[in-house]
Amino acid sequence: MSEAQRVGEARANLVVMKFGGTSVEDAKAMLRTTAIVKGRRARGLSPVVVVSAMAKVTDQLIAAGKAAGRGDKSGALAIAARLRNRHIETAGDLLCGELFAELQTMIKSEFDALDDLLRGIAAVGELTPRTADNVVSFGERISSRMVAAAFAQHEMNGVHVDARTCIITDSHYGKAVPQEAAIEAKLTELVLPLVNAGHTPVMGGFIGANEDGITTTLGRGGSDFTAALVGGGLHAGAIEIWTDVDGIMTTDPRICPDALRVKTISFEEAAELAYFGAKVLHPATILPAVQKSIPVWVLNSRNAENEGTKITAMAPPCASPFKSIAAKKRLTIIDVVASRMLMTHGYLKAVFDVFDRYHCAIDMVSTSEVSISVTVDSNERLPEICAELGKMADVKLEGHKALICMVGEDIRGRSGMSGRVFSAIKHINVRMISQGASEINMSFMIEESDVEDAVRSLHAEFFADPDPVIFDTEARVVATKA
Ligand code: ADP
Ligand code: ASP
Ligand code: MG
Repeated sequence: MSEAQRVGEARANLVVMKFGGTSVEDAKAMLRTTAIVKGRRARGLSPVVVVSAMAKVTDQLIAAGKAAGRGDKSGALAIAARLRNRHIETAGDLLCGELFAELQTMIKSEFDALDDLLRGIAAVGELTPRTADNVVSFGERISSRMVAAAFAQHEMNGVHVDARTCIITDSHYGKAVPQEAAIEAKLTELVLPLVNAGHTPVMGGFIGANEDGITTTLGRGGSDFTAALVGGGLHAGAIEIWTDVDGIMTTDPRICPDALRVKTISFEEAAELAYFGAKVLHPATILPAVQKSIPVWVLNSRNAENEGTKITAMAPPCASPFKSIAAKKRLTIIDVVASRMLMTHGYLKAVFDVFDRYHCAIDMVSTSEVSISVTVDSNERLPEICAELGKMADVKLEGHKALICMVGEDIRGRSGMSGRVFSAIKHINVRMISQGASEINMSFMIEESDVEDAVRSLHAEFFADPDPVIFDTEARVVATKA
């Protein structure tokens, strides 16, 4: 066998397994995670593991950073103290003997460093984006060391890798852009030899460093993105996103408890869903996987036997028009009414340039002869954006809006779809509609308070008789029997 063939085969066995916050939320969850990874090793696979911070830790670190930034030193340190206790207690439930003692020392020294950092921020009374990234990075820094220690205790050759040595990014703190060539080089140098030596590398998701070694983060939910970067950089055979639901579902099961598991979905459909609010997957996750045609699976760490959802380049034909319904809340509609500049050449460009200058992503656009309506979800820079737009037009804002996005292959090719959609929600006021920009989504804006009602009505209309090739209809049979 040639060297190239041997490497190729080794990589096909390489699987990147990402475990979200709920999959490492306490010692019990970490042990479930350990058993799942051990199962993959027993099948002859070589896992590289990416973990999130323990559930809710990132939110609390953000709160601690903000408190310190306001000068509230004792508030910030109180949050850090609660986090310290939670991590040490978890370590005590997870490990014993020498491994526990080592882990406890590590946790204490990380939290000592966090306390120092928070004291420094409180003294200055300002939280810069760079320091905020440093504060939130502690969640993944610590959780990844804990999981690596659990793997070591369970004879899986667990070895911790500091993600900041491999995930090289630019310096856009809070939402840093990964540098894929540098990442691939670092993974090949630092992680691949560990895999080849039979170790199970464990690294924190979400965090990285710029080329000067300063800590950065990839944005909320960014551990999925790390998994895709590691999978892409190592040319893995598969990427597995382990979470707390059975896979990608026909809608958020928290809104609609009778949501069904989607067995297979295309990269394009999954990306659309993720972008338009399905939290189960970070939108950026898909790209590195698509570029290298690496299949991505979404699986449930609380129900590991379940097949989950497979995301692949091509989705098989589906008798149902839609695969899933996503909802994105906290959106604002901006109406730009420009009677003064009626049909002036270059007007649209001037408006979009303003959003571009403030790095503000637009979700939906609708235009008429004298007005443009756009929807945005980033509210931080809205006052400045509106002030600039106000120089060329009348500007009106409407908050508390939500976008519903229905995703499915070839919606355009099926007649009568919009009729069915809008008659299912005829009791709800629809503010803006978009269909056509993409063949695979139909979206519209409604009031935030109507989201639950709209999603349930649409789900009842389109998933009453689901195609068993694509959806797990067995789950519904079990639920009906129970
Ligand atoms: P993790 O911590 O594992 O990254 P997240 O909370 O980020 O998990 O994502 C999982 C959650 O996404 C689920 O608990 C579910 O409520 C939500 N969700 C939203 N839309 C969907 C969907 N279409 N399919 C599955 N889960 C969804
Ligand atoms: N811990 C980070 C967050 O909560 C990243 C992640 O879990 O994906 O956003
Ligand atoms: Mg997530």
